[in-house]
Amino acid sequence: AHLDRIAEVDGPVHAFLHVDAEGALAQAAESDARRKAGEARGPLDGVPVAVKDVLATRGLPTTCGSKILEGWVPPYDATVVRRLKEAGLPILGKTNMDEFAMGSSTEHSAYGPTRNPWDLDRIPGGSGGGSAAAVAAYEAPLAIGTDTGGSIRQPGAVTGTVGVKPTYGGISRYGLVALANSLDQAGPVTRTVLDAAMLHDVIGGHDPLDSTSIDQDWPSFTDAARAGAAGDMSGLKVGVITEMAGEGWQAGVMARFQESLDLLVKAGAEVVQVSCPSFVHALAAYYLILPAEASSNLAKFDAMRYGLRVVPDGDPSAEEVMRATRDAGFGDEVKRRIILGTYALSSGYYDAYYGQAQKVRTLISRDFAAAFDQVDVLVSPTAPTTAFRLGEKLDDPLAMYLNDLATIPANLAGVPGISVPNGLAEEDDLPSGFQVLAPALADDRVYRVGAALE
Ligand code: GLN
Repeated sequence: AHLDRIAEVDGPVHAFLHVDAEGALAQAAESDARRKAGEARGPLDGVPVAVKDVLATRGLPTTCGSKILEGWVPPYDATVVRRLKEAGLPILGKTNMDEFAMGSSTEHSAYGPTRNPWDLDRIPGGSGGGSAAAVAAYEAPLAIGTDTGGSIRQPGAVTGTVGVKPTYGGISRYGLVALANSLDQAGPVTRTVLDAAMLHDVIGGHDPLDSTSIDQDWPSFTDAARAGAAGDMSGLKVGVITEMAGEGWQAGVMARFQESLDLLVKAGAEVVQVSCPSFVHALAAYYLILPAEASSNLAKFDAMRYGLRVVPDGDPSAEEVMRATRDAGFGDEVKRRIILGTYALSSGYYDAYYGQAQKVRTLISRDFAAAFDQVDVLVSPTAPTTAFRLGEKLDDPLAMYLNDLATIPANLAGVPGISVPNGLAEEDDLPSGFQVLAPALADDRVYRVGAALE
C-alpha cells in the first residue's frame, strides 16, 4: 500500500531519492511468514520505514543529497539501518535532504527540492524534508532522520509530524555520514509520539562501533509514551524559554503554543518562565562550530575514494582532479560552509572564532543545567514560523539559518528534544510544532510530555 501511495504522490512531493520496491517487498514477505509462524520479532516487524539518504545502506545508493556521491553504493549498513532490518522493518527507500544535511528547506538537495504535502508551494523543512514529507504524505508510516541543528524537529513542525532528537550518544552514529560529529544524532520521524517511542526503542542503545555511544541501559520509551498518553501531568514543572518569543515569531504559531501551555496547566503541570540568556548566541556559535567540523569531514571527498571523479582535459595532476571534482560535485551551500569552516579553523583566527564559539557552547550547557535545576522540561515553539515558500530564503543564507533558532541549543548541549504537531497557525492554516527539551539521558521525559500533548 505504501509503495502504491509513493507511486501516486511522490512525483510532485519528491520525498524519495531512491525507492527499493523489490527489497521492501521481499522483507515484507519474510516478515509475513514470521508473523504467521508466531515468530514476529517485535511490534514493528513488517512495518515499513523510510531512511534519510545520509545513512549508509548496504546495496542501496547513499548520496547525502550530493552529486559528489552520485553512484556510491555503500558496502555496509549503518547501525541504525542494521537494527531496523533485524527488527523486521522493510526499508522503502532513501529520502531527500539538503546536501550533506546543510539547510532548513531541502532546497539545497542536488536532486531537486522536496515539497510540503500541505501546500506544494511550500518547503517541508530541512535538512530532513524528505523523511518528514514521506510521513506527512502517508508514503511511509515511519522514517529516520538526523538532527544536527534541528533537521528532524523543524521539518516535523512544518509538516505536522513528530520528530525526535535523542540525547547525544543515545543512537549510534556508525554509518551516519558526518556533517558535524559533535552535534549529529539520528532519530525517529513519525505521525504519533508512541510510534516515535517504539521506533527509538528499536534503533537506540549502546553500539561499540561508535566511540561516543553511551553505554547504559535505557528505559522503555514505549512505556514512557504510554504513561504520558494518560495525560496526568501533576507535579511536572515546565519552563517556557523566555528568549524564544518576540520579534520574528509568527503570531499564529505563538497562539497555538500558548493554547498547549494552557492544556499542560489543566493536566496538572506548573508552568513558569525560565531565562536562558546565552541562547541568543547559539546560532552564531553553531554556524562556526558546524562549518569547522563539516569542512574537515568533507575533505574525504577527494575524487579518489568515493563517487564522482571529474578528470579535466590534458594530463591533470591529482590536485587538479580533486579541484575539478569538488568544484562540480559540491553545491553552493556546501562550498560556503567549507570556506567558513576552514577560515574559522585557520591559524590566527582559531582562537577568535572557533575558540570563542566553544566557550559560548559551554555557556549554553550551563544555561541548560541551571534551567533544569528549576524545571523538569523546557518548552518553546519548534520553529518561529510555519513553512515558508520555495525560493523565499534561498538567496539569503542568514534568513534560512534563523529558522533554526529554537532547535540549535539542544544540539550544542547534547540534550534530547521532541517536536509534536501543535495545530495550524491561524494566518495560513499551516502546521506548527511544540518543542519539549529535557536533560541529557532523560529522553523518556520528552516522550511522556510529548504524548500528553497529542
Ligand atoms: N538547518 C541546520 C543547518 O543548516 C540544521 C541542519 C541539520 O540539523 N542537519 O545546519
